[in-house]
Amino acid sequence: MSDCVFCKIASGEIPATIVHDDDDVVAFRDLNPQAPVHVLIIPRRHVASLNEATEDHRDLLGRLLLVAKDLAAKEEVDDGYRLINNCGAPAGQSVFHIHVHLLGGRAMGWPPG
Ligand code: AMP
Repeated sequence: MSDCVFCKIASGEIPATIVHDDDDVVAFRDLNPQAPVHVLIIPRRHVASLNEATEDHRDLLGRLLLVAKDLAAKEEVDDGYRLINNCGAPAGQSVFHIHVHLLGGRAMGWPPG
């Protein structure tokens, strides 16, 4: 998608602090971190939100979680971390390219706001 900020990060058109990069998945540090570790894990392929995902995306969605798990270990927060997917504006989604937030390095409250 030509006007999608996360597509532009994945293609290198917009700079970001990339922490993981493979054929299918890119991960980078959030510009406005909400925890000592705050990484966004995205597919290279544009999918606007979980609502647009289909069976075709099953492997890709699984890869997002596996990359998140590996990054939690690499960032040394694997004793406790939170993965978040905001789906839709009322839930807080502001960038319409599906992504998983990896938050760690501090205690988390429940329920989330
Ligand atoms: P969400 O609100 O769930 O859609 O999450 C979008 C996240 O993207 C927010 O936490 C923003 O801080 C983050 N964000 C937006 N633009 C950028 C960018 N250019 N580089 C890194 N993170 C960004």
